[in-house]
Amino acid sequence: MDCRNQRAKVRTERVKRNGGSHTSAEWKLLLPNSPTCAICAKRWSEIPTHPDPRYKHTWTKGHKVSIYHGGSGEISNIQVECNQCNFKKNAGAFGTKPPKITKPIAEHKETNTVTTLQETISRKFSFILNNGTEIFPVQMKRRSTGAIAFRVSPGGKGANTLEASEEVNEKTMARKVIVEGYAVRCKSLDGNTNGLYKHGHRSVREIR
Ligand SMILES: [Zn+2]
Repeated sequence: MDCRNQRAKVRTERVKRNGGSHTSAEWKLLLPNSPTCAICAKRWSEIPTHPDPRYKHTWTKGHKVSIYHGGSGEISNIQVECNQCNFKKNAGAFGTKPPKITKPIAEHKETNTVTTLQETISRKFSFILNNGTEIFPVQMKRRSTGAIAFRVSPGGKGANTLEASEEVNEKTMARKVIVEGYAVRCKSLDGNTNGLYKHGHRSVREIR
């Protein structure tokens, strides 16, 4: 099997695994509502036409969260992208290394973290890690709803996913973590340590 067929096969399997689909009517509705590329924000007329005449338009269908990263085929995950951006994106995804997160996203994330640390850590208790780092339970904002809550989970495999976790207030969080041994998302004040921790986790020395 040649390289291109192999890629197509891998992609088809991913699409199947990721699930979700949209109708051509949904796509046709999205198009007129997308005057610019969702990635570079250029107007379609600003994009050079592709030398290959099979590319009729300067726009194409793209996934917000790529197939490669588990994105679904639901219309909510579909956006209109220019050929150039779409090509760059896929060239990254097909490489041997996982695509790097682009810089603007990383910077944006950092800004959010600072805000999170100022506004939403719990001082009810903290974990001291074996390396001496003190980490505090931190509230998470769910991107889809904007709801802010502590996210706790019983631990174990897949505990990190939204499905396996419960979103609770501070009081419930403290009880679940301290009494019931749930894991909670924690952060150090400098933001360098960030993860799901629980009492009895191998890197946790004590609860303070
Ligand atoms: Zn673009």
